[in-house]
Amino acid sequence: MGSVAIPLPAAAHPTAQEQAAANAAAASFAALTAKLDYLPSPEVEQVRQAYRFADEAHLGQLRNSGEPYITHPIAVAAQCAEWKLDAQALMAALLHDAIEDCGVSKHELIERFGAPVAELVDGLTKLDRLQFDTREENQAESFRKMLLAMARDVRVILIKLADRCHNMRTLSDVPREKWARISSETLEIYAPIAHRLGLNQTYRELQDLSFAHLLPWRHAVLSRAVGRARNRRRDLIQRVQRDLEQAFAQAGLDVRLAGREKTLFSVYRKMQNKHLSFSQVTDMFGFRVVVPKVADCYTALGVLHQLYKPSPGKFKDYIAIPKVNGYQSLHTTLIGPAGVSVEFQLRTESMHLVAESGVAAHWLYKAATPEGVSPDRLGTQWLQSLLDIQNETRDAAEFWDHVKVDLFPDAVYVFTPKSQIMALPRGATVVDFAYAVHSDIGDRAVAARINGEQVPLRSELHNGDVVQVVTAPDSTPNPAWLGFVRTGRARSKIRHHIKTLAQTESAALGEKLLAQALRAEGIDHLPAEAESGAVWDKLLRFTGSRSREELLTDIGMGRRIAGIVAKRLVALVAELGQRPDALLISRERFSGSNDTTGQGVVTIDGSEGASVSLAHCCRPVPGDAIVGYLGRGEGLVVHADDCVVAQRLQHKDAERFIGVEWSDEPVRTFETGLIVTVTNGKGVLARVASALAHAEADIAHIDMGQDSAQEATDLRFLVAVRDLAHLDTAMRLLKRTPSVLRVQRSRPQR
Ligand code: MN
Repeated sequence: MGSVAIPLPAAAHPTAQEQAAANAAAASFAALTAKLDYLPSPEVEQVRQAYRFADEAHLGQLRNSGEPYITHPIAVAAQCAEWKLDAQALMAALLHDAIEDCGVSKHELIERFGAPVAELVDGLTKLDRLQFDTREENQAESFRKMLLAMARDVRVILIKLADRCHNMRTLSDVPREKWARISSETLEIYAPIAHRLGLNQTYRELQDLSFAHLLPWRHAVLSRAVGRARNRRRDLIQRVQRDLEQAFAQAGLDVRLAGREKTLFSVYRKMQNKHLSFSQVTDMFGFRVVVPKVADCYTALGVLHQLYKPSPGKFKDYIAIPKVNGYQSLHTTLIGPAGVSVEFQLRTESMHLVAESGVAAHWLYKAATPEGVSPDRLGTQWLQSLLDIQNETRDAAEFWDHVKVDLFPDAVYVFTPKSQIMALPRGATVVDFAYAVHSDIGDRAVAARINGEQVPLRSELHNGDVVQVVTAPDSTPNPAWLGFVRTGRARSKIRHHIKTLAQTESAALGEKLLAQALRAEGIDHLPAEAESGAVWDKLLRFTGSRSREELLTDIGMGRRIAGIVAKRLVALVAELGQRPDALLISRERFSGSNDTTGQGVVTIDGSEGASVSLAHCCRPVPGDAIVGYLGRGEGLVVHADDCVVAQRLQHKDAERFIGVEWSDEPVRTFETGLIVTVTNGKGVLARVASALAHAEADIAHIDMGQDSAQEATDLRFLVAVRDLAHLDTAMRLLKRTPSVLRVQRSRPQR
């Protein structure tokens, strides 16, 4: 008997490596909690719960650096804590990769942390799923707008920026071949968003990190050059600083003075844009002067201008006229010692807060002690609204709505399957999208997929949807689309198509009618325009039509009578010496039995489209005896032979009637009217509808009698049937249904 050694579960004896990972995570969370002193302790506890949940969810996952994955969400939350975001945002930051990477459901997050936190995480997950394709030029602007539009809460954008910031800080751990894509995406999408929202510190950091990974060699060279220049000018800068401190002290001004240096990326960009060498970039170093009150900014400016000579044309008052992202400061450039120009920015504490943190200043203001920052004159409306909304509602969503109005129009942004971004008005549908891509795509659209799922063409689009339109070569626009399209482009294209369709179909019908009328006159085919140009010219002069096409359309639309045109054409042909064929005449006239005008018979199979319609008064179906009426301008209208409307027309307009017959194989179903008289009572309509369903006759419309007090009432249906036999079956089934007293077809009354 041997014994089997059973290994103990790994958890019971954590390896040294696992222990180290756990320690690292705990250490970084401890560092985070140290920053949470602005939150009440119950909220700090909630953040801790979110941390524990995320830590468990990410257990065993590692970052590229080999650190436990949880260090990333903690770092993101720490950045959000720098901005003094609320507990919900911090929890969402800790959980931001939980749905996507750990298979945690939104439902689970709602149950554990509440709907607001779950919504934030869900919003972040949706942003993560968007893939920006940097190969598509000129798309960056739309992509940025789409990102902003998709976030229903500004906190989602802030957490996203914090996420990107940490990913950029740790990009060196990522395989090198990914650097370029991630860096250009940051440079084109995320840095400008940070800038637009006034998060200048983040903006500069994102730019510099992207630059370092996109062009590592250039970044290194420039970094060394700036270092050397900094050394060379150290004495000079220190001298300026001493001069300034002295001058401000004499003026009795309380200032906070800080040296500032241009970022490497902005030096690089300036050299590129203005074709300068490094030594020609003179505004590398400068000072920031922060003072208590707005008036002090101007006083300090006066002090500076007395100390050194201002460089002409460099003074800018962004206090009176703030930048669009809310930035406010006075800018001036002075000629310092040794002729070196030095840049100055003068601002108050609250302006400084906005200048560095932008939108995030909303939360920073909240967290600031009353005497810490006094909200003074803030220029732009939406920045002022930071304060107003903070005082009135403290509602981040409302604030964001306000900001959004300024940031982008009422649009949705969606993708083509090739990652092209399309901007459409809110409420736009798949059909609008199809026409926006190309009118051919719109005209031939038959089905669509949104994010891979089959959807109806009328489906409304949402931000970030990937829309794929399925086309069929012989498909045509459906007039019903006009009921839901939003864009003028789609509307006009559909209308145009329907109009030309009616016209070409009418021309084809006209040609058929004219050829038949000609055969009745003994000419067996329509003379071709090429050989008989002179005949056509004369004919068109006779009818006053501009073209052969127009004449044929007019015949098809019933604006001209084929028989009359045919007689004229025969006369013209006769002038050329061509005799009518007597045999043909007698054969044509003999065969067209119910043909009052000698034009032959038109076959109806339901595929005729706009040039042929079925009269709404009698609604004939295959199997009914029918007549065709060439209404003025309405094309061929098919009536039931016994329709009183048709009979009335036949009296006064006999020459407009032509022979029609049903095809042996109709291609679709036909709607016809039924009147079902029933006794009033519960469930009657349901029984009748179910009888029709049983007969496979689809109900297209129901109209009910108003008077429920009466014993019997008429239900009026439009039902779709294949033919008369199908209709008879349906009517028989209805008659056998309880409560049904009578079933009849709906026909116009005499
Ligand atoms: Mn992340």
